[in-house]
Order: sequence, then C-alpha cells, then structure tokens
Amino acid sequence: MIGISISIHKIIRLIKRVLYFCVFYTNLVHFLQIAISAILGGGIRILCFHRVIGDDDKSSQRSYSGHLTRSKFEKLIKYLTKHYKIISLEECVQLLRGNRRLPTRFIVITFDDGYADNFYHAYPILSQYRVPATFFISTGAIGTTDSLWFQRVYNIFSRTSLESVTIDWLGKTFTWGQDVKARSKTMGEVTKSLKVLCPEEREKRIDALRELMAVTTDKPHELDRMLSWEEVIEMDRDPLVSIGSHTVTHSILSTIPEESEVWREIYGSLCTIEQELGHRPKLFSDPNGNDQNFNKLHERLVNDAGFICACSLASGLNNHGTNIYKLKRTCISSNALYRNALNIAGVGDISTSIRNKISRILGNSTCG
Ligand SMILES: [Zn+2]
Repeated sequence: MIGISISIHKIIRLIKRVLYFCVFYTNLVHFLQIAISAILGGGIRILCFHRVIGDDDKSSQRSYSGHLTRSKFEKLIKYLTKHYKIISLEECVQLLRGNRRLPTRFIVITFDDGYADNFYHAYPILSQYRVPATFFISTGAIGTTDSLWFQRVYNIFSRTSLESVTIDWLGKTFTWGQDVKARSKTMGEVTKSLKVLCPEEREKRIDALRELMAVTTDKPHELDRMLSWEEVIEMDRDPLVSIGSHTVTHSILSTIPEESEVWREIYGSLCTIEQELGHRPKLFSDPNGNDQNFNKLHERLVNDAGFICACSLASGLNNHGTNIYKLKRTCISSNALYRNALNIAGVGDISTSIRNKISRILGNSTCG
C-alpha cells in the first residue's frame, strides 16, 4: 500500500513538472497570472532569496540555506526585468500605504541573512541589470569569522567522521546513521528542535552537539562566510541597494523571554548598521517570520525602533489590506526558471488556497 502511494506521488510530481514546463515554454504564464489575479486578487510580490553560489561551487554540500547558482540567478533576473517592473521595498511600502490601485506585475527583491555570496554573485548581476534590492543582515555574524547558528549546526553534521550517533535531548532521540536520506532528516529535525530554544540554551546545545559529534570547529568554509562590513558598505553606496536588519543573532523573537532582550535583537542590529553605514536602516525582516513567531509585541518594538516595515516568510501577494509589519514574501530556492516563473505568477498561492479550502471543508464536515 505504501509503495503504491509513493508511486502515485511520484506520478503526480512528474505530471505537475511536465505541465509547468509546457505552460512556461508555450508562453502561457502571463495568461495564467491574469487568471490567478482574477481569482485571488492582485498585489505586489516580494521575493525572498538567501544565497547565490558560484556555478562551480559545491556549496550545496555544505550549506543549509536554499540557493541558486549564479547563472540561474542571472537567467531569473533577466526574465523578471523582461516581464515585471522591479521596484524597491521602500517604493512598495509607499504604494501599499497609498490609495492607488496596485499593479499586478510589480516585484520586489530581498535577500535574508547576509552571506558573502550576496556580494560576490548576486550583487554584480543586480547591478548589471540595474535592479533594486534589499539585503537583510543578521549583524552579529557580519564581519566575523562566525556564521549563523543553523549554518554552524550544518557544519557540525557535515564534518563529523562518526558513523553512528544517538542524540538524546529535549525529550527526543535523534539517530545519526549511515543512510544519507536519514542523515538529512536528522539534521533537519535537530535544527528544528534548536529553533524553538532561547539563544542562550541554543548555544549550549550547539556546543554539546559539537562535542558529541567529535568535531573541532563549526566555523564556516571560506565560501560560506558572512559579509564583511566593507562589502556591506560597498553595496550600500549603490542607490539601488538598501541594507535592512535581520536581528542580531537570527533568533526567533518569540523564543526570547525578556522584552529587553527582544529589543536588543531589534534595536541593537539597527544601531550596529547605523554605526557602520552612517545612516539608519528603515527596513526589517523577521527571522523565520510567521504569525506565531512575530506577535503584536514584536510589531510594536519594530515600529518603536523606527523601521517602516517588516517582512515575514508568510507567502502571498501584498495589497492595501496587508499589515505593513507582516509583509508576505515568496521564497525562491529553485534553480529551475520555469518553476520560479510559475511560482512568481501565483501558482504556489493558488495551490495553497485550494489546499486551505479543502482542509476547511474536511475540517467542517468532521466537526459537523
Ligand atoms: Zn534568515
């Protein structure tokens, strides 16, 4: 029975891929987008990227965050400049605050975290096509030899030479064995379990994990390092670039018990950016942001700090009804242009909307 359901899933995936491929290469994306806008309504789409790696880098073996290769990123930017108007996040906020009818083909480009490859691979292409973009940086790791906590966890797992380890913590048991798929699952689950801890507790656990996995260092490989301040300053000089805050330590704000500590994550990152760049950042992006993680208190603190908006990771379009401190974004982590093009046209939104409707109907019928 399980074998049959796996095969059905594989067939559905294949049909979907062929369908996407056909829609893209027969130039039906535009019509599809018009149809989706008619159903779901229009708005501005904000894209969220993380990493752009060199075509020859084997960074995928070392990195936790999703990424595009440089040539695929260039293809996507070329496609976007041909089919959309790319505006800055500041312009997007202005439009959302205004009364004018929102266009359907406006796109905003943002990057989260602050990896150095943003400067080496993404920025030259954005600059070549004269495309505005916002880079949200977690200031604690910028200009250091450290990386963000989840990258360090990835580094530990990818560097261990131990073949079998049992990790007992937080009431759960995780097994690190020989199977590659199971290893990746364990890594994901351990990272997930660390995500919900407060920063202090999380750091202790990462130290313990490093010892348990017999790894001497979790420092990043040169190709995975974070931006230096010189690189941030150079990008900031470009009028098409905005530098925004992504907190200090990339902690989920709801995991931090003290309001003063949350304030330090928000306002502390603002002050560091201001000190380094000589002007205040106006834009904020919430790590792992969704409705549960970014609450009214966080919204107020981001507002009090002086940020004009905050980006979340909830997906969808932004319109006049969208909370400016919970802007929706569409994550781009695929190298396939046709898939990204359809996603940006709204295919992801429509399938989420259908899924939600089905689960509501099923939920209602169960209750009823
Ligand atoms: Zn992030």
